[in-house]
Amino acid sequence: MLEITPRRTVYDVCIIGSGAGGGTAAKVLTEGGLSVVMLEAGPRLNPDRDFKEHAWPYQLDHRGVGIGGRQRGIGNEFMAPNGFWEIDGEPYTTAPGSSFRWFRSRIEGGRTNHWGRIALRFGPADFRAHSTDGMGDDWPISYDDIAPYYDKVEAYIGVFGSKENVPNSPDGVFMPPPKPRCTETVIKKACDKLNITCIPSRLAILTKALNGRDACHYCAQCGRGCQSASNFSSSQVMIPPAAATGRLTMIANAMARELVLGDNGKVEAVSYVDKTTKAEKRVYAKAFVVAASACESARLLLNSRSASFPNGIANSSGVVGRYLTDSVGSHLEGHFPQLENFPIHNHDGVGGMHLYMPWWLFGQKNEFLRGYHIEFGGGRNMPGVGSFDGVCEEHEGYGASLKQRCRSAYGSFIGFSGRGEMIPNPNSYCEIDSDVKDKWGIPVLRFHWEWSDNEIKMARHMQATFRSIVETAGGTVVLGVKEQMNAQGDDQKNGKISTGGEIIHELGTVRMGSDKKTSALNGNCQAHDVNNLFVADAAPFVSNADKNPTLTIMALAWRTSDYLMDQAKKGEI
Ligand SMILES: Cc1cc2nc3c(=O)[nH]c(=O)nc-3n(C[C@H](O)[C@H](O)[C@H](O)COP(=O)(O)OP(=O)(O)OC[C@H]3O[C@@H](n4cnc5c(N)ncnc54)[C@H](O)[C@@H]3O)c2cc1C
Ligand code: SF4
Repeated sequence: MLEITPRRTVYDVCIIGSGAGGGTAAKVLTEGGLSVVMLEAGPRLNPDRDFKEHAWPYQLDHRGVGIGGRQRGIGNEFMAPNGFWEIDGEPYTTAPGSSFRWFRSRIEGGRTNHWGRIALRFGPADFRAHSTDGMGDDWPISYDDIAPYYDKVEAYIGVFGSKENVPNSPDGVFMPPPKPRCTETVIKKACDKLNITCIPSRLAILTKALNGRDACHYCAQCGRGCQSASNFSSSQVMIPPAAATGRLTMIANAMARELVLGDNGKVEAVSYVDKTTKAEKRVYAKAFVVAASACESARLLLNSRSASFPNGIANSSGVVGRYLTDSVGSHLEGHFPQLENFPIHNHDGVGGMHLYMPWWLFGQKNEFLRGYHIEFGGGRNMPGVGSFDGVCEEHEGYGASLKQRCRSAYGSFIGFSGRGEMIPNPNSYCEIDSDVKDKWGIPVLRFHWEWSDNEIKMARHMQATFRSIVETAGGTVVLGVKEQMNAQGDDQKNGKISTGGEIIHELGTVRMGSDKKTSALNGNCQAHDVNNLFVADAAPFVSNADKNPTLTIMALAWRTSDYLMDQAKKGEI
């Protein structure tokens, strides 16, 4: 009897992941006329329901601090949903002797619902650092290749900043920056004395209305998400215009397991787990854009094995999972007595810093290679979960005297965080741990991690710089109880460097390059081995400049999407 095969839908493009990279690709490709199906491992986002930007503690379970009061910082219950250091049933492992932390998000828009909105361009020297100091590798593209795409992204999403001409920290298409607040002025004065450049920060937050999005109303709660979409998230800024074209099919709660290779040597489908029914399903397309975030994308490629690609698809070079880096991070807190009992004044602003310090020693001979920038914050923002943990740790007693101490200390602490460049090394990478699967039956990643001396020297330099800023500004360095105990211990020896992955700038795991023996992708983020496969997150990065990566992810994804459309028009894909 004749068997009737149901006709399968073949989309022009399948995108995996809806974060910074996937969202940008969806907007550009659908507006360019292509039909797109997007697989997203998390649920759809509803800002009115999911964002708790103006919620009070009494409106939340546990008043926002989680069961047993254990949730702090980016884990507390006020924050935008579904971003976690740990995900139930979806573990990862670390090799003996390695420490690594991996913050993942499982929701439409990914970690752009949670990010700090710091939107910095990489500079021209960041694309060719190997040619300058012999370490790492140069990118196969230059600043000039990506600059027009930085322009497009900034103009579309809205980034505030100022024209400054700081070497290797390029200016962009900026909205006016907000004025410095009192604490920021105190620090700027100290930086001026120390010849440390301190300028308006560059954040993806609107200071003027743009494309139907309202200007920021200065509630300073960006990490909770923004119901008026005044800051950038892919879920509110990239996905809606893609959906409006009528050419986007979004499949939520769809965990991609494997890219399926067709007889013609191209990817023909993605096999995914429908998390709602646990059924295994497939979607078909002519081209595939993997944008699941740098390490998830590497995991998907490594798990896509076939006779042609026994070590994972697009991995004939063996580099997939290698060259993993994160930013070098270090932190220090200062206490400023002059800010104690300060008269109540208007401290309104965005949910982030109004000023920052770009790398001010560029081009000089320093005791380490590459550079870092400084982010800082404090002052009289609305107190959040854990705001007074430090005061409670240090103050003896409770009740009225503790409350009084909290009131007088409120607004008198300023924290400094360095973000510096890590140079890839052979001991920092991820691979499949074939002994462990997640609850969907998908093998998980195992992380190997090692900082090199260069990063440890950089972190020490950060600490010394923070200390001199605090002291020049008339403050004292705060050592918490834990730090006092560790004063002679490992933290001190290694310059108080962050744990790998902790800065949430992990990247480089499917890197681009001109030589297919040492890279997985070409300069258009297209797999050398499989021409209808593209990667559009931070996995293609060749270096991890001190600048936070997300603006570059979006600029690169836009550029990759333009190239893909061009190839599709020519019938090459
Ligand atoms: C608290 C915080 C602060 C940050 N601050 C900054 C900052 O100030 N500046 C900056 O530049 N960066 C910052 N970052 C980093 C920034 O969020 C990321 O660089 C950026 O979101 C990465 O974009 P992406 O598209 O690669 O991945 P993500 O945004 O992580 O999106 C990936 C998406 O893919 C989905 N996915 C994963 N696996 C699969 C699968 N197998 N199948 C289907 N879907 C899948 C996920 O659910 C997710 O939605 C911060 C991050 C956090 C968490
Ligand atoms: S500070 Fe501005 S951008 Fe941030 S959540 Fe509030 S209104 Fe939105």
